[in-house]
Amino acid sequence: MALDVTLIPALSDNYIYLLQDTETGQTAVVDPAQAAPVQKVLDERSWPLNLIINTHHHLDHTGGNVDLKARHGALVCGPKSDAGRIGALDRQLAEGDTVAVGDQQATVFEVPGHTSGHIALWFGDANALFCGDTLFALGCGRLFEGTPKQMWHSLLRLRDLPDDALVYCGHEYTQSNARFAVHVDPDNSDLDDYRRWIDDRRSEGQPTIPASLGREKRTNPFLRADVPALAAAMNLSGSAPVDVFTALRSRKDSF
Ligand SMILES: [Zn+2]
Repeated sequence: MALDVTLIPALSDNYIYLLQDTETGQTAVVDPAQAAPVQKVLDERSWPLNLIINTHHHLDHTGGNVDLKARHGALVCGPKSDAGRIGALDRQLAEGDTVAVGDQQATVFEVPGHTSGHIALWFGDANALFCGDTLFALGCGRLFEGTPKQMWHSLLRLRDLPDDALVYCGHEYTQSNARFAVHVDPDNSDLDDYRRWIDDRRSEGQPTIPASLGREKRTNPFLRADVPALAAAMNLSGSAPVDVFTALRSRKDSF
């Protein structure tokens, strides 16, 4: 029994995720930016589509909802707080709700910051986190609707998950995020190793996703705002972690 995850690149740097429970054949798509690339994979494999799950309302995560629902009758699930802003929404998800893809269960976390209604899905048995634009490999989402404090607390919740969790985020931003991470955390040898691996993967045209949460904990500056060495590198020794996070986020915005 397993959760099969397929990465489907879309638009310029989005990832759509197609999930199938290998036991039952039930299939879900997470954040369909577009319908066509999802439909192509479904056709190739003769798969059904039972569920559409959106992490947040942005069009590059929901643009395929209406077409895919019309074609497959799939149930569209998304954040309750974004209900009025997501097309074709059938089921509203809130903190602590569960979503089933066949025998695979996901727990819903509310992780505001990038948008006010953003959610993440944690498939505990599969160790798979689908976090949209909250946590990226070596980065985090821009704060379009939330405060730095909200985002920091959202990231802390995700950081509490096990080191062997696999992070499936909404975009392939890793290589540019790495440039910023090295800039603010130049003495982190784990980060140097990670950056070399990222450059190799991208030069081969390969995705850097899923990311290992354990490695993110050691290298992603936005998960390390409470690490004294990072605060020191930011000239903010002794500052509250949320203040270090705020400074990191604003420096990244203009990097
Ligand atoms: Zn977004």
